[in-house]
Amino acid sequence: MRFDILTLFPSLVQPYFEDSILKRAIAAKKIKVAVHNIRDYSTERHHKVDDSPYGGGAGMVMSCQALYDAIKAVKKLNKGPVLYMSPCGDRFTQKKAEALAKKHAKKGLILLCGRYEGIDQRIIDLLVDEEISIGDFVVTGGELPALTIIDAVARLLPGVLGDDESASEESFSEALDGMLEYPHYTKPEAFKGKHVPPVLLSGNHAAIKKWRMENRRNPST
Ligand code: SAH
Repeated sequence: MRFDILTLFPSLVQPYFEDSILKRAIAAKKIKVAVHNIRDYSTERHHKVDDSPYGGGAGMVMSCQALYDAIKAVKKLNKGPVLYMSPCGDRFTQKKAEALAKKHAKKGLILLCGRYEGIDQRIIDLLVDEEISIGDFVVTGGELPALTIIDAVARLLPGVLGDDESASEESFSEALDGMLEYPHYTKPEAFKGKHVPPVLLSGNHAAIKKWRMENRRNPST
């Protein structure tokens, strides 16, 4: 699956793909990630990409020209939808990650990262297919939200996780009826006076399964 990230700060996102699971997924050609610097598309003097808001007020707004040209150029490389990272968007969930992984695995996704006060509304009206929020809080830019979404989607693609089982029985999955995962323990059996629940040492698979199901938790709302 192809992911194209549009950002003013490529160096913030690039390192995330240089280690661990996503690095492996890129080497194995399960995913492809391209990072585009919006500033490279500015035709203005000094490659200006923002301006003060009409109507006044604090902060700067990312202006139309560079964004428009950058998105248009990237749309030639990636036929998937343009997702704008925004606190005003629909909340990103595990269900949404599953839907994106299923629906856009072939075409890919374009992730647009805002900065400052955000982007000119006309870019949203003209070129954005969907606004997505990673939660009810505000971060300084769309880079962490874009990485969050790519990570959550990529790990659902076949062959990205080492063990294909790992994504099936985990928090929010159907296998756990959408609930949160049970607690995990590993060696040693006792640590600082805390013991592993005996049933997990019993070798009785039915009893272990029952314990795990009983120890799922409800997601917070
Ligand atoms: N003025 C905006 C916040 C701008 S924050 C407002 O009040 O809604 C700057 C950029 O960070 C945004 O354009 C967006 O791309 C990104 N961003 C901040 N919080 C986000 C969140 N919860 N989810 C997704 N993107 C977010």
